[in-house]
Amino acid sequence: MRVHIIYTGGTIGMVDSPHGLVPGADLEGWLDSLLAGTPLARSVTVTSLAPLIDSSNATPLSWQAIVDDLRAHAAADPQTAFVILHGTDTMAYTSAALSYALTDLSVPVVITGSQLPLGELGSDAAANVTGAFQAATSGRLSGVALFFGHRLLAGNRVTKSSSWAFTGFESPNAAPLATTGAPWQWAQAASPGIGWKDAAPYTRHDVVVIDLVPGITVARLEALLTPLPEAVILRAFGVGNVPSQEPGLTDVVERVIAAGTAVIVTSQCHESQVLLGHYEAGDALARSGAVGSRDMTLEAAYAKTQFLLSQGLAGDDLAHWMGRSIAGELSQ
Ligand code: ASP
Repeated sequence: MRVHIIYTGGTIGMVDSPHGLVPGADLEGWLDSLLAGTPLARSVTVTSLAPLIDSSNATPLSWQAIVDDLRAHAAADPQTAFVILHGTDTMAYTSAALSYALTDLSVPVVITGSQLPLGELGSDAAANVTGAFQAATSGRLSGVALFFGHRLLAGNRVTKSSSWAFTGFESPNAAPLATTGAPWQWAQAASPGIGWKDAAPYTRHDVVVIDLVPGITVARLEALLTPLPEAVILRAFGVGNVPSQEPGLTDVVERVIAAGTAVIVTSQCHESQVLLGHYEAGDALARSGAVGSRDMTLEAAYAKTQFLLSQGLAGDDLAHWMGRSIAGELSQ
């Protein structure tokens, strides 16, 4: 099986500079020695996206650059498996974004990176890249997954959970797809979602994410929403509760929705299931037309919002899709 690697940047290929880590390692040379003597040695191709970036600089346009390269290679050879090398900081956003944009392709796509550069003693780069290759060529995967720290996780259920641990990522609301070992332990594949035909390319949209805190005032909330963005993701408490006794707070949300901006409510809890009508403190939001993100991660909800806006949806139409699984990003 052919494997195409899309290298986007990230710590994995970084080297020291006077101002901190920057891309610069000989990634292709390193891959050659990693794969030497294995069946993959002559069946790997690499695209390095230009410029290589720290993933903190990624935008929806970076997501689209990956989609474009991947589609071009999948069209040339539909048997290709894909490994994407990416910085860990926003890897979970990219993996969710790819999952929505690629539902029509049944190719395996595994994204990975590392906490330490490939050239450092004790780096996790080799283990992660090897695991990603194994997952991508296993014949058991279709769709987008993230391999890190010995686990294969669904690409749209993940969140970066540590800036230093080699586990790196968690999938708080969905079990791992597989765990390495001898042999690997694979779980039953989850429902793939209803898919999306002819996805329009990602474009960059104005989506604000607001964390509610005890004592937030209406004036502050209004200031954060001025001028009105195209969509709002409100990170509320618990199952989606807000300070509903703060005078005027739910009126602001109502006004935003009446102006055609979708309001999506997620939770600040790591493990969450947003149920807006469960408490009076969340019911007012539901009545105003806000929609809960159910058990999507913030990354999955944010990338989905950018995806739906890129498809030309807004307001109620966008809100309607938040509760429907496009690519397995929420539990049915
Ligand atoms: N800042 C890096 C990045 O996301 C962190 C990493 O790759 O681990 O590109």
